Order: sequence, then structure tokens, then C-alpha cells
Amino acid sequence: MSDIIQLLPDHVANQIAAGEVVQRPASVVKELLENAIDAGASNITLLLKDAGKTLIQVIDNGKGMSTTDARLCFERHATSKIKDAKDLFNLQTKGFRGEALASIAAIAHVELKTKQENQDVGTLIKIEGSEIVCQEVVSTAKGTSIAVKNLFYNIPARRNFLKSDTVETRHIIDEFQRVALVHPNISFSLHHNNNEVYHLRASNSRKRIVAMFGNKMNEKLVPIEEQTDIITIKGFIAKPEYAKRKRGEQFFFVNNRFIKSTYLNHAVNNAFEGLLEHGTHPTYFIYFEVPPNTIDINIHPTKTEVKFDNEKALYAIIRATVKHSLGQYNVAPVLDFERDATLDTPYDFKDKKEVSTPHIIVDPSFNPFKNDIPSTPTPSKTTSISSGSNSNSYKKSYAQTDYKKDAGTWEALYSSENIQVESTPPATHQEELFKSEQETETGKTFQIQKKYILSSIKSGVVLIHQSLAHQRILYEEFLENITVKEASSQQLLFPINVSLAKSDIEMIYGIKSDLESTGFVFNEFTKEGVVIGGIPTSITESQIILVLEQLLDDMKLEVPDASFSHFDIMAKSFAKSLAIKTGTVLSAKEQENMVNNLFSCKEPSVSPLGKATFKTLTLQEIDTLFSK
Ligand code: ADP
Ligand code: MG
Repeated sequence: MSDIIQLLPDHVANQIAAGEVVQRPASVVKELLENAIDAGASNITLLLKDAGKTLIQVIDNGKGMSTTDARLCFERHATSKIKDAKDLFNLQTKGFRGEALASIAAIAHVELKTKQENQDVGTLIKIEGSEIVCQEVVSTAKGTSIAVKNLFYNIPARRNFLKSDTVETRHIIDEFQRVALVHPNISFSLHHNNNEVYHLRASNSRKRIVAMFGNKMNEKLVPIEEQTDIITIKGFIAKPEYAKRKRGEQFFFVNNRFIKSTYLNHAVNNAFEGLLEHGTHPTYFIYFEVPPNTIDINIHPTKTEVKFDNEKALYAIIRATVKHSLGQYNVAPVLDFERDATLDTPYDFKDKKEVSTPHIIVDPSFNPFKNDIPSTPTPSKTTSISSGSNSNSYKKSYAQTDYKKDAGTWEALYSSENIQVESTPPATHQEELFKSEQETETGKTFQIQKKYILSSIKSGVVLIHQSLAHQRILYEEFLENITVKEASSQQLLFPINVSLAKSDIEMIYGIKSDLESTGFVFNEFTKEGVVIGGIPTSITESQIILVLEQLLDDMKLEVPDASFSHFDIMAKSFAKSLAIKTGTVLSAKEQENMVNNLFSCKEPSVSPLGKATFKTLTLQEIDTLFSK
């Protein structure tokens, strides 16, 4: 018998390969956009006609190609991105197979125009079914434009297999979004049949998400952030109340690539447990980085599934991170606080709005007992309440309950445009009740059972849990001090020797630099313990051991990995050990400061550990109590 095996001609091989790479117009879009990004473009335009069936064109201002490269780029396995196999483990680019352009050129009419920065003129190449039909010198801008026309013109079966324009456009937009979301620093535009669908300016990732999904998205987003040895996580989740019936806006990006992962999606859902209405799905945009050698990149060119080495650990970390942010930001909307739209991360206090002294309008002639339910009285006098100086006063000891923050959101509770703060009559003796006609007081507080503070607000009353509220105040102050300000430290006259178990010494040693940024100074680490020479100004000498022990306990409980957000754990732990406890009597001034400070927090309504810090009872609710 004669030999029957022969090598396939290139164009046939390319067509077969194209079947793998190009399933539909959206696959071409993805490849071309990725090439433009790999070429370092800062501006990318995508033009489509008829859902990409007639035209897909990507124009970039990247580095362009030389004339030789412009010809070579359509060859199979022609790539500038890797040179040998070891490069596969340190990929910096989206593409590396050198297959895309060869495949696309095998099944469409392709027109390439490209010019490098240092060239006077560029190159135009037309290629149809893998055959170069034209090569010319052309005048063109720096960068590359690739137009792919009549996709699958030579594979009718494929062309007929395409779905409706609506469906194919949807697929294209999905690809476009996935690429544009990971590259907020690149500006993108998308035109379909001469209509501009997207025009996305270069910005940051939050703004990119908002530009893509609409302004309403801004208020829905809660930032997430975490860093450990095996993963760095950034991104946003949408608050549970915005969960969707359809599983639409769920994005995982690993090392700047969009991926699908049922497993990790489960981790996110799990973190939302109990917060979602049945049948709804959380929205999320989670970007994470893992060391390239812990992720299998040698996957199918168009598949979005990936394989991770330490999947279980990633699951746990993602779940904990999302849960943490939910605890931070997702609070029942008890009161409609004016939200700071620039809210970024719990550690970022730099943008905190300057707070102003609240002005409270009081009507001294107002007698609350004149009518059953007082209607809005006319303002006749303006009193301003100021509770002290600005944030520098944190340098005092928290334990001495020295609250000196200004009131900010406080205002929202106690006044609004035309509403007066109703005076709270000191409910003691009859005579006093009626005397209050002259002595109207606002924001008057009462301590109840050495545990709660009761205060009157415009809509009724607010009941504050003193210890949990103080935890919130301290927590935010600590975060601010640790991450934004220079840590202030007080030098100890006599260094303190704290003896600790060996494992505890190691643990403290592991977070030494983090502790130092809170103000701790470690003179020495010995076999038996640590010698402390300085402490944060916010704690007293007698509290050192308490604080460290609490911190060690919290670290052991919370930390699956030793580098797990130390700052946050520290701030929580410090807040917990230093907050005033139930059973502490508070003076009128202390109560008032507590209220003011709580409501100037970013998230006043939950303690750092997620418990409610206050409850309100509206006048209506109070009325119903008496209506039966
Ligand atoms: P890969 O991206 O896997 O390398 P492609 O077939 O997509 O393979 O592209 C082949 C080569 O053509 C790339 O390696 C790159 O050198 C060049 N190339 C493709 N698109 C562009 C572009 N927009 N700008 C500059 N060079 C490009
Ligand atoms: Mg490519």
C-alpha cells in the first residue's frame, strides 16, 4: 500500500483552528480587544455592523507593527508575546498562542492598517481566507486598525448557525464589558450600526463600573479589599437589597482576566447568606490576583474556567472578605443618613466630609403639652450646639471617655429644613414640666440602667447601646489613626516587660510593624516575652496587657492566614477592649458627646462586630403603644 498521510495545507489547518478560536462574532471582539491592550493602547474603539456579522473593527493607538510583523501576524503560532515554554509561567499579556489572527484571517475578509511610532507611513494588508490579496503603503495614525468583514463567509454552516442580531450583540457586549471592566485606565468606545453604545473615559474601577452600569450603581456598591500571601482581592459588591432576580452582574477577574467559577461564586453567595431575598443573586465585581504559578493558564483558548492550586483557601478568604464588607456597610436602613458618595474603603478616611456645627432651631415659647401632638412650631430663635474641637483630640485616652468629635450626620437626626427639634421635657416633677416653657432643651439625653442612652430626635426617640456605640466610635478612630495619620506614641518612663507564651510572642512579632503603626514601640523580643517602650496615646499603661491579650485572642479566632487584614482586626480588638462597658455611669456631657460622636461616624448604626448600636422609636410607634 502506498503512504496516505499528508500534512494539511496551512489554510485548511487555520480553518480547523478557527473553529476552536472563533465561535461567534464575540470571540473575534475578544481577541482583537485583547491584542489592542497587549499593544499598550490607551484608547480603543470598537465598531460593529449587524451584530458583528458584517463588520467588526477595532482601532487602537498602541505600538503598531512593522511591515514584516504585519505580514507575519497572520501566520499560525506567530506571536511576539512568548519565546519559549518557561514564559508561559510568567505571562504578562492576554494572548500568547499566536492563533487568533491566523484563525480570523482564515474565515473572514480582514483589513489591517498599522503604523509604529517611528514610521512615516504605515502598512495596509488585506487578507481573505488566509490569502494575502493586497499589501500597500498607507498613511495612517500610530497604532493598529483591524477590520474583520463577512465573518464565516466561507463556512456557510457556521454563518447559518449564528443567532439573532440581538443575541450576538449581547455576547459582544458581554465580552466588551469584561475587557473594559479590568482596564479602567484605558478609554473604550463601542459603536453599533453607527450608534454610540458606550463611551468610557479612562478612570478608576468604581467609576468604570458606574459608567458602564449607570449612575444608580454608585450607591449600590460596597468596596471589598483583602490581602494575604496567596491572594489579593479588590473590588465591589452590591448591597444585598440590590440583589437581582437574574444572575447578570457577577464578575470575577483573576490576574486581569475574566473567569467563571461556580465554586467561588458559591463563596460569595454564602457570604450573603440570610441577607438575600429568596431567588435573588448578588451583584459583584471581584478582582483578584494570585501568583501566576498557582493558576492553570494552559486552558482552552475560549474557555473562561480556570484551575487554582489552593481553591479551598481562596474560597474561605473570598467568603470572609465579602462577609466582612457586608458587616461594615450593610446596615438596615433605619435612618436615611446622608451617605458620602465618595465612600471608598473602611480604611480611607481621607475624603471624609468636613463636618459643620449643627444648627438647631428652637422655639422657646413652645409648650409641648399645649396640644396633644405638637404640630410644627414657628422658629423664633436659633441655638447652635457645638461639641468641641476637631479630630486632634483623639490623642486623649479613650478610656477616660473624652469624646470631642464634632457632630456631622447627627444633624440629619435632629433637624431638617423646616422641622424643629422638639424639646424633651425632663420628666420629673409636674412643676418642672410646665416650667419647661422657658427652658426648652434640645438633644437632651438620659442614661437608662447604666446601659442605654435615650435621646429625643425629630421623629421620636433613639435608644443607644452605650458600649456598642463606643466600640463603633473607637473602631473608626483607630482605623483613621492607623491608616491615615501618623501614629502618635507615648514613651513609657519604664519599659514594660510583658511575658507571653512562645506562640504568642511569634504572633506579636509577625504583626510587629502593624502594631508599631498604631503607636506601639517594641524595645526587645525575648524568649519569655516582649519589652514595650512605647504605647499608642489612646491607651493607658494599665491597659496594655488587656489590649494585647484581647488582640491575640482575636487574631487566633479570625486569622486563617497570618497576614489577614491586621489593621482591621486590631482596630476591632482595641475598640472591644477599650470601649466603656455596660454598668458605667455617664455624665450628661459624656452622654451628649457619645451621641454626637456616634452620629459623626461613617457607619453609626452597627458595632464593628455587626451588632446594632441604636434603635429608633418613631412618634407613630410610640402612639400605637398607647392606642390599645
Ligand atoms: P497572540 O496575541 O496570541 O500573540 P495573535 O494572533 O492575536 O496572537 O496576534 C499575533 C501577533 O500580532 C501578536 O503577538 C502581536 O505581536 C501582533 N499584534 C496583533 N494585534 C496587534 C495590535 N493591535 N497591535 C500591535 N500588534 C498586534
Ligand atoms: Mg491575541
